Parts: sequence; C-alpha cells; structure tokens
Amino acid sequence: NTFAEIDLGEALNLNIRRCKYVKPTPVQRYAIPISLGGRDLMACAQTGSGKTAAFCFPIISGIMRGQFGQRAPRMPRTACPLALILSPTRELSCQIHEEAKKFAYQTGVKVVVAYGGAPINQQLRELERGVDILVATPGRLVDLLERARVSLQFIRYLALDEADRMLDMGFEPQIRKIVQQMDMPPPGVRQTMLFSATFPKEIQRLASDFLASYIFLAV
Ligand code: AMP
Repeated sequence: NTFAEIDLGEALNLNIRRCKYVKPTPVQRYAIPISLGGRDLMACAQTGSGKTAAFCFPIISGIMRGQFGQRAPRMPRTACPLALILSPTRELSCQIHEEAKKFAYQTGVKVVVAYGGAPINQQLRELERGVDILVATPGRLVDLLERARVSLQFIRYLALDEADRMLDMGFEPQIRKIVQQMDMPPPGVRQTMLFSATFPKEIQRLASDFLASYIFLAV
C-alpha cells in the first residue's frame, strides 16, 4: 500500500520519498508489480493518473539492477539507450524528462530528451555524453536513427505514452519504423508498456503487433 513496501532499489525508493510520494496511485499500484514481474502491459491511463511514475519506476529499477548483464557499449557517435519512452509532443516529452531525472537522481541512470521543433545539435551533444533512458517524440527519433546517432539494438524497455494521441497526430508510420529497429534477436528480451486513454481498433492493433502476451490494465 506504500512505495516503501515495493522493492524498487534503495536509491529509487529514496528519490520517491524525496518526491513526497507515499501511496501509489491506482495505475501505479497495479502497473508497477506487473512490469517488475517482467510482463508486457497495456494500461488505460489519463493525464494526472500518475502514469509517468508507473512506467519510469520499473525502467529505472531494472536498469539499476543491471538485469541484463552488461550495460550497452559506449560508441563514440551512436547513442545506445536501454530504454525508450515515446511521447507525442515536445511538452509531454519535457515533462517526462523532468520527472524521470528526479526519479533517477544519484542512481547512475542517465535520462536524455530529444524532440522536434528545436535545434538538433544540443540534443546530439547530450546524447554523446551517454544515455540509458531516451525520452523522444517519434519524428525526431526517426531523424536521429537516420543519422545513425541513436541505435535501438540494446533497448530492453519500451514505453509508449499517450499512444492514442500519437496515432491521432499521424505518427503511426514513424512508430512502426522505430519499433522495427528493435526487433532483433534474441527475441523476448524487450519489455513493452503501452499507455493510452482510449482503445480504438488502431491501438489494439498496435498492441497485438508490439506486445507479447500482455496484461490489460483498466483502473
Ligand atoms: P502524471 O499522470 O504522471 O502526469 O502525474 C500527475 C501528477 O501527480 C504529477 O505532478 C506527479 O508528480 C504526481 N504524482 C504521481 N504519482 C504520485 C503519487 N504516488 N503520490 C503523489 N503524487 C503523485
């Protein structure tokens, strides 16, 4: 019933206390144990439900534990994040980035944001300094992939935030292109979380294409 009871790792639990989160919100209460247990997840979540923490906590906790052996290698010009959080807009990406940085404070987990409508050079410099969790809008990420400045071959966690809004904005081709680049052997190593406020056919299709035997959470 409290975050202290969930074993997310000492440094993350400390940051959660610093944020003054005591009790998980409903989506957090169910989504976090599912993700920590390694299952894929499709969750119904509105803005304000606490969904950012619901996908950030398991990602940060998993990276801290180094569950997948070694860290991704540092290549000089190509960033190799372990986790990708896709969100529809610059504003939302920046919000997620700000929150994720608080959660990852002094954990050794590095969070970087990349969004369109802004000069790319500053973002490239940030990426060159190393990144574990990349928060990105789909268009800018495709650009970075085409420039070979980001590689998705080490992605272990994928979170799609406000998936319905991303589709409404016409990002489906970009999202499919992005996820295709992760579908490399060995299979089954990627954990995927899809958050959406609505579940039209297009979202259900995305879920059946991207998620593996997932749990559907409606709170
Ligand atoms: P979100 O839905 O992720 O945008 O979160 C909405 C707001 O609720 C943000 O300001 C969060 O910092 C805050 N929040 C999220 N989870 C909790 C929690 N368990 N306890 C208190 N505040 C929270």
